[in-house]
Parts: sequence; C-alpha cells; structure tokens
Amino acid sequence: MRSRREAVPVDVLAIAAHPDDVELTCGGTLAGLKAQGRKFGIVDLTRGELGTRGSDAIRRKEAERAAEILGAEFRETLDFGDGRISGTREQELSVVDLIRRERPRLILTSYPEDRHPDHARAGRLVTDLAFYAGLRKIETSHPAHRPQQTIYFSTGYLHEPDFVVDVTAAMETRRAAIRAFSSQFHSEASTEPVTVLSQKSFLDAMDARARHFGFLIGVEFAEGFRSKRPPKLDDIVAAFEGFEPGF
Ligand SMILES: [Zn+2]
Repeated sequence: MRSRREAVPVDVLAIAAHPDDVELTCGGTLAGLKAQGRKFGIVDLTRGELGTRGSDAIRRKEAERAAEILGAEFRETLDFGDGRISGTREQELSVVDLIRRERPRLILTSYPEDRHPDHARAGRLVTDLAFYAGLRKIETSHPAHRPQQTIYFSTGYLHEPDFVVDVTAAMETRRAAIRAFSSQFHSEASTEPVTVLSQKSFLDAMDARARHFGFLIGVEFAEGFRSKRPPKLDDIVAAFEGFEPGF
C-alpha cells in the first residue's frame, strides 16, 4: 500500500464506522474493482475500540492486513470515537479534506439506517460531507471535489438493493479479507465474550447474504447496494442475462 501522503486519485473511497464494516459488506466489489485495474481506498471513521473482542493493536494489524488482501491503495483510520460519531466541525472538515485529497469518483458507505447507530451515523455524515466536499467556499488544504455519487451497502439491517454486483470471482478474496479480522469471529479456543459477529454461524450468514444477492441475478455470489439515483446501463439485454436459466 502506498503512503497516505501521495495524492493519486482513487476511483472509489469506501468510508465506514469500524474496521471490518467494509470487508463484510462490499469486500468482493472492491476486490473485483482492483482486478479490473481500478483504484480504491478505505477509511474507517473509528478504531473500533468499543469492540468487545480483540484489542486496539490487534484490530489495527487485522485492518491493515485485510486492506492488503483486497488490494486497497491505502487504509486510513480516523479517531472519531467508537460509539461517539457525532461529527464535530473539525471532524467534518477532516473528511471533506480527505475526499478532496483522494478525488474519488464514487463513495461507498453504510446505509444510514441500521441496528448499530454508528453505521447509521456514518452513512448520514458521509452523505453530507461528500456533497460539501464540492463546495468551493468551504476551504481546506485541497481544492473542492464532489464524487459522482454516494452509494450504500447494508451493514446490520438488510435493505432491498437498487443494484447488485456479481462478486463470484472475488469471493475467495473477500472471505480472506474478512478472516483477517480473526479476533472478531468465532474461535473454539477463545474465552472472550460472544458477540453478534463471533457467533458460530456469523460468517456462514455473511456468505448466505452474498449467495442470496447472487441468486437474484443468476450468479453464485453478489453484493447489493442502494443508490438514490439509478446506475446507467449501456446494455439492458446483457444486464438481465442469465436471469431465467434454461430459456
Ligand atoms: Zn461496524
């Protein structure tokens, strides 16, 4: 991964509340973008320090490793405070400046309605800041830049997707990136408290979610997204290919 100081525009910036949110929701899409030669970066708004399992240092290492597996250009972890994402003016401007520095064409973030308030708050905040990043009269250390669109992944609660991305070819990479966060998931040897993520069935459930989205479009695995504007399709016939196998 490059150092965070080199300003090379990325195609996509994925911004979420906690380290592992991105991997669990859109890791396959990001790995697929990388395979197509596109560039992306990951930003965590918090260090996830309220997480029941693991420690700060362990999670930092896990997050770095996961970003490497997916092929991120960089991962930057901010420190807005786990469980305290509120968006002070200073925090808002730091995200505005980061968006301007990286000049992404798309922003990926949490759908602003979720079981975990941090995910919902992150989604709301990032939506607003992606817009503000384009206002020239808000001055930060980089020139104004507005991404083309902010699109959303479901984190806890599931939302009906507006479009889905075939991630079948990237599924092993996605799984490897998720497994990099081993402190968060089930382990027979662990004596730490059980959480939603560390239930034995959790990773199977994440796979099942990808399988469900895949089934909707006639492929093995997919990831679903919401967007307030519909994506532009160049070929509607190709877009629905394989929906009715055998016909
Ligand atoms: Zn989270």
